[in-house]
Amino acid sequence: MELSQHQRKMVLRSPVWKYFLRTNKLIATCNLCQMAVGYSNSTSNLMSHLSHHHPNNYFQIVAKKAPASQATIPSLGPPPFPKEKQERLFKKLAAFLLVGFHPLSMIEEPHFISFVNTLEPRLMFMSRKTFNLNIIDTMYSQAKDKVKSFFIITFTSFYSCQKNFSHWNLLQ
Ligand SMILES: [Zn+2]
Repeated sequence: MELSQHQRKMVLRSPVWKYFLRTNKLIATCNLCQMAVGYSNSTSNLMSHLSHHHPNNYFQIVAKKAPASQATIPSLGPPPFPKEKQERLFKKLAAFLLVGFHPLSMIEEPHFISFVNTLEPRLMFMSRKTFNLNIIDTMYSQAKDKVKSFFIITFTSFYSCQKNFSHWNLLQ
């Protein structure tokens, strides 16, 4: 849905834009950590990003918004997305991309980010480079370690069998 001129002005006038660069209609980039955040039509995702990742900056905005007489401790909104769950989700996403031969650039596509942000606004996306480094490389070394330990066990048992066999040969 297209925003009216008035709505667009209201969205861009929000003080939250001090910390974001509007990439396009759906995505903004955080000036503080360069993370891409989906924001279509409202700044609530941007505020949620600030509250979870840069609470000091978030407090600055909230404190300015609240009238002096109502200056209370602002609520931080919903609890942050559990790190463990986020890691599990990213691993599933990596498996989906790798097994389906989807390009890694998919995670930077505005509509994909918007889709995921609609499902879970607290899920914060990383760049393709960070995703490759943090998730895919970790999964790759874990898989490599598994294969390596499988070969070490197989080789060790094979070697000890062979040794026993040669001892047995000497006894003959
Ligand atoms: Zn940030």
